[in-house]
Amino acid sequence: MNGDESAGRSRWRWRSTGRQRSQQEVILMLLCALSIPSILPFGIYRLLNGAWMSAAVDMALVLAMSAVIVHVWRTGRHRVASLGVTIFYSAGMLATVYLRGVSLVYWVYPTMIAAYFVLRPTLALAINSVGLLILIAILVAQLATINLATIIVTIGLVNLFAYIFAYRTGRQNQELHTAVERDFLTGVGNRRALERRLAEHAQERRPQLEASLLLLDLDHFKQINDQHGHAAGDQVLVRLAELMRRHTRSSDRIFRYGGEEFAIIAAGASLIAAGHLAEGLRAAVAAATLLEGHPITISIGVAFMDKAHTPADWLAEADKLLYAAKQGGRNRVCVAPPSVHHAEGD
Ligand code: GH3
Ligand code: MG
Ligand code: MG
Repeated sequence: MNGDESAGRSRWRWRSTGRQRSQQEVILMLLCALSIPSILPFGIYRLLNGAWMSAAVDMALVLAMSAVIVHVWRTGRHRVASLGVTIFYSAGMLATVYLRGVSLVYWVYPTMIAAYFVLRPTLALAINSVGLLILIAILVAQLATINLATIIVTIGLVNLFAYIFAYRTGRQNQELHTAVERDFLTGVGNRRALERRLAEHAQERRPQLEASLLLLDLDHFKQINDQHGHAAGDQVLVRLAELMRRHTRSSDRIFRYGGEEFAIIAAGASLIAAGHLAEGLRAAVAAATLLEGHPITISIGVAFMDKAHTPADWLAEADKLLYAAKQGGRNRVCVAPPSVHHAEGD
């Protein structure tokens, strides 16, 4: 053991982050929160003026919005709530126009735009299109053709612009999200992606969804850089990532979490299955030619992602086993003793 190595083995720091609220979750709660002070004064005004039906619609909207805020805040589930709020809002808006007349048609515009903030653009467009058809049916008898046509065209344009904007923003968000979690050199997930995936697994409550964690480290990689240059070292990392992709299932997730260190989350793998996977990988790397004229091997530590423990514990255990594999002579796999896992799991 040398000082550098043992210091290196303890370098894992788990950055504990609370669950982050998604953008849609926040926007949905914000829209609901904003809608309460926008509707409530009208509801009170109508109540005081004896417009019972309109006042009832306003009050029902306020109550529903409050309920949604509480639900999303507590559970974080927003998909069904988003759809429910959009439909409820659209129906409320149409009912208001029907009951109070065409002067309330101005509410259609912000309501339809809001749908694009909380739903997928195509779903928002579909719901708004149905809303527009119902609106036409309500207004056709009340308005001159030119006025009705103006309303249809302006609502159509508002939807077109909102759809394009929402679609493009969604695409950019997706690309950004992918780029932020991908390792630039090898194309596998980066450390950030690994930490997110581990945290997700820790929160996953279904016990049948077990998983194991493999930590891999190239043996004597420094020599490769020293003897063949940094570019050759990079090439080895790229080829190793390709080899790992070929030797894992599509449900397994591969990450590069350090310079020449990788992690694999083997989905649905018991410790025994993960041990076989690791051994297969080790043998495949030893047999492959990742660099002409230079045999390359890896060492692997395998830990079970036991729900009784935290992501930091899983990483620490896999790291400890990887270190043991290095100490044992490298080009080998060290798997957590099953007895430890079972004893703790019982
Ligand atoms: P061990 O068998 O104990 O793991 O020995 P090692 O030489 O592989 O381990 P060590 O941690 O001492 O060296 C890792 C080397 O990996 C050091 C660094 O130069 C190299 N490295 C880290 N990131 C990259 C990279 O992105 N590209 C290349 N080419 N080399 C890298
Ligand atoms: Mg290393
Ligand atoms: Mg190494």
